[in-house]
Amino acid sequence: MSSLTPFASPGRFLRGNLHTHSTHSDGAMALDAVIATYRHAGYDFVSITDHFLDRYKWPVTDTRSFRDGRFTTLIGAELHAPRTEMSEIWHIVAVGLPLDFAPTTEAEDGPALARRAREAGAFIGIAHPAWYSLSLTDAATLDAAHAVEIYNHGCQLMHDKGDGAYLLDGMLDKGVRLTTYACDDAHFKAPDFGGGWIELKAEDNEPEAILEALKAGQFYSTQGPRLEDVALGGETVDIQCSPASGVVAVGQGYLMSTRFGTGLTRVSLPLEPLKASPWLRIIVIGADGKRAWSNPIWKDEVAGLD
Ligand SMILES: [Zn+2]
Ligand SMILES: [Zn+2]
Repeated sequence: MSSLTPFASPGRFLRGNLHTHSTHSDGAMALDAVIATYRHAGYDFVSITDHFLDRYKWPVTDTRSFRDGRFTTLIGAELHAPRTEMSEIWHIVAVGLPLDFAPTTEAEDGPALARRAREAGAFIGIAHPAWYSLSLTDAATLDAAHAVEIYNHGCQLMHDKGDGAYLLDGMLDKGVRLTTYACDDAHFKAPDFGGGWIELKAEDNEPEAILEALKAGQFYSTQGPRLEDVALGGETVDIQCSPASGVVAVGQGYLMSTRFGTGLTRVSLPLEPLKASPWLRIIVIGADGKRAWSNPIWKDEVAGLD
């Protein structure tokens, strides 16, 4: 069995949120209060991603003064430019931006803007796809993307459209290797804080190490359940987790391997039903219905697997 990323990697798990707003754009809570909320809830890092738009004076919110030995911040923004099949503008999360990232130009569309952000060093996320009916055709043009939001808590709470699985799995089925993260997208106009986050394995909690681990997929996503290990062998995928009522491995199309029960903490799922899929990903379902999600696993990237 090969224990997989991030479980086999050195370092410790850090809790982080990659997508949240303050009064620097349309959030209802001031920046220092937003940061304090995450800090006091035990998060290790946060990225404030205010809307990068002219009407908010192109904010790349400077959070450096909130960094200390225990807690850190990544500089980010939510980028917008024309257009998708169903929306005037794209919604693109960029984490790890330079503070002097230049305003969007008239000539830039979403994919071009995302490319410029990635070239400037950012991790690029496809935000809340279900909320604005982002299509697979749209997503295929966003070639700078690192990841899709598997769960956006604000969109789930306010619109019942927090899910990103259709877009993630659709892209994986096209062979596009994306990772996936859960986030709050909190605006603090509703109880939209603390509903989804990532657990990221890094050597230390410096912004550079976190950004590097993000790009390398050294994390999993959760609403609460813990993923403790995922290991892949020739016959099974073995999962260790906090007590669960279901553990599911999904793959291409509708292929899956599942186990349901009570208090599951060690589950060995047969890979036979997923034989035809080049990828799989793990979902842990807690007794309260809350989920944890692994990043996609590509069989051809796992050493020693035939
Ligand atoms: Zn948005
Ligand atoms: Zn947002």
